Amino acid sequence: MPGPFLPVTPEEVAQLGWDAPDFVYVVGEAYVDHPSFGHAIIGRVLEAAGYRVAMLCLPEYRSAEAFKRFGRPKLGFLVSSGVIDSMVNHYTAARKRRNADVYAPGGRAGLRPDRAVTVYCNRIHEAYPGMPVLIGGVEASLRRFSHYDYWDDKVRRSVLVDSAATLLLYGMGENTILDCCDWVRRGMPAHELSQLRGVCYMAKQPPGDALPLPSHAEVAADKRAYCQAFLLEYQEQDPVRGRTLCQQQDAQRYLVQNPPAFPLSRAELDRVYDLPFTRLAHPMYDALGGVPALQEVRFSISAVRGCFGSCSFCALTFHQGRIVSSRSEESLLREARLLASLPDFKGYIHDVGGPTANFRQPACERQLREGACKNRQCLCPTPCKHMRASHAELVSLLRKMRAIPGIKKVFIRSGIRYDYLMADKSDAFLTELCRYHISGQLKVAPEHISPNVLSRMGKPRREVYEAFVDRYNAVNRQYGLKQYLVPYLMSSHPGSTLRDAVDLAEYLRDTGHQPEQVQDFYPTPGTLSTCMYYTRLDPRDMQPVYVPKNPHEKAMQRALLQYRNPANHDLVREALRLCGREDLIGFGPHALVPPRTIRASSDRTPREKGVRGEKSFRAQRSVSARSNAPTARRAGRAERTGPVSARRSGRSAPNGRKGGGRS
Ligand code: SF4
Repeated sequence: MPGPFLPVTPEEVAQLGWDAPDFVYVVGEAYVDHPSFGHAIIGRVLEAAGYRVAMLCLPEYRSAEAFKRFGRPKLGFLVSSGVIDSMVNHYTAARKRRNADVYAPGGRAGLRPDRAVTVYCNRIHEAYPGMPVLIGGVEASLRRFSHYDYWDDKVRRSVLVDSAATLLLYGMGENTILDCCDWVRRGMPAHELSQLRGVCYMAKQPPGDALPLPSHAEVAADKRAYCQAFLLEYQEQDPVRGRTLCQQQDAQRYLVQNPPAFPLSRAELDRVYDLPFTRLAHPMYDALGGVPALQEVRFSISAVRGCFGSCSFCALTFHQGRIVSSRSEESLLREARLLASLPDFKGYIHDVGGPTANFRQPACERQLREGACKNRQCLCPTPCKHMRASHAELVSLLRKMRAIPGIKKVFIRSGIRYDYLMADKSDAFLTELCRYHISGQLKVAPEHISPNVLSRMGKPRREVYEAFVDRYNAVNRQYGLKQYLVPYLMSSHPGSTLRDAVDLAEYLRDTGHQPEQVQDFYPTPGTLSTCMYYTRLDPRDMQPVYVPKNPHEKAMQRALLQYRNPANHDLVREALRLCGREDLIGFGPHALVPPRTIRASSDRTPREKGVRGEKSFRAQRSVSARSNAPTARRAGRAERTGPVSARRSGRSAPNGRKGGGRS
């Protein structure tokens, strides 16, 4: 009989009548039994299959003692850092330590180690040498090959080497974990390793049919080799046509990656979401302030997985893949009714979504037969003629969901892909979205307007966004709604020059937008953009890419996007002068900033009061250089943190949902 939660203490294990758990599941975040959290899903899937699993969440990691809490498990350990890579969780894009962790009790930072998967595995090896250890989740999945690590600023080996785990499970793991646990239970027969989909393992000799990638030594020494390896990893991330890959990690060992697992069928997904989740954080955290990350998703519904949007800066493609799978209407309505029956439900479903809220089916039929195209994206630079763009099923679902007694409003807060929406000739979804599923504003993510940057980002052209803005405004006018669009923008993405940032600032001036938040590009593991950042090459065409890396230039690019903020004026003036755009300095309608900082007389030093007119360029530069440190700090504070920034960076938000229109 399933308990309300999986056991978290030896006493609870004993109460269940177990002499020992089959597996101890070590997780780098608080235990939240909600289907938006990967550890909850994996725990429930294993429980339903008859495995006895004990949860060891956020264990004290400085010694092996905590890992002996349940004694020696019968079969092994499972390890995940949680829904976010631990380094992304701990550090901002400016590599500054974050002071909160919404995935920990009370939002307390510092309970999980940096590089959590490796640290946890090392403690397990100390506690129980030789015990099978299976690693999975975002951190393991995105670091499965040799990869550029932004925090070390070097190419690191596969996390499977560092962790010395038995197997690495990549991608969405419900079927994979069952196959692997069964494999462990049957004594780990070596000859069956090659049959485990979604798995990486180490071997002295790779299988004869494995496609060799450039070795670790090669990708660490040669950026062109790095690009070649990355492109193959990226292209072979397909369950239909993906091949076995191998990469030599050191003198004696190869990493072998079996082809990806197939996405769960609709019936399989329904079964997963029907498991008996309590949808609560474990009560042991009540006195500690609960788990903040749960609040965002407590009344949200995960409807879809996978994404054929393929934004270059998003790691989803490399984790969930391009083939979209979704739950049935009945399953989603069942969950909505269940949420409506909960005592603390206030009538609002906060989100019905996933990586991209308006995807509900695979991009095309061919994708299912032959796999997603290797050298073509479904939406960029223009929508593929084979793509089926229809929101009919989603519209039907939303109509039924908002009619459920007790539900006042169903929000869509996951990102929508507006180029997909534009490819649908029917206005039905946009109309219903504006009328019923947003409140005052819709967040979308054009990210930039410069063609060169957009093509590197894998985002649609500016004209597509502008056409969407017109269509959105027309629908709102038609229904007498005063609702706005909030565009999300990214600074310093590979390809973005200072002139591109000036163009974007002019666009913001012309459209009257004042972004409150700007995301600096963050080179997280497993993305195409990170490959460009590291190599200064686009692996798709091997063309050189301009990459802003200098912190001062990055500060200028970010300041341009928030040029109205007086704190940014020195940086903006400096950027405009460097670009030869002094015409944008002044008081006219086209100017971005005034010629000098205008402060109250009482704020000026006696020396400043004696200075007449504009400072020389040299003096300005010297002032702005001095002011950059505090400016960068201020801008750093504006950076999104926690789940939202995590969504940007690899979707490490709970269950891969990307938030706030970021897709
Ligand atoms: S045929 Fe078009 S829609 Fe289908 S996978 Fe290829 S690019 Fe995507």
